[in-house]
Amino acid sequence: MSRRFIAGARCQGCAAEDTLFFETDSASDVVRCVDCGFTEARPITVAVATPSEAVEIVPLKFPMT
Ligand SMILES: [Zn+2]
Repeated sequence: MSRRFIAGARCQGCAAEDTLFFETDSASDVVRCVDCGFTEARPITVAVATPSEAVEIVPLKFPMT
């Protein structure tokens, strides 16, 4: 089981920000609030930034000696 916090998300239970995280178990993802214990069976619609698609890092190749 892993936890992944959702940056900028607002809890529908207590209206706090940055308290929601995805709790992934074997069956499904659950959105949970660490502040009030609010849970939602499906991930809420949040635009989660994916830096990997913005910048592609190409490793430098040095000549072998
Ligand atoms: Zn909450």
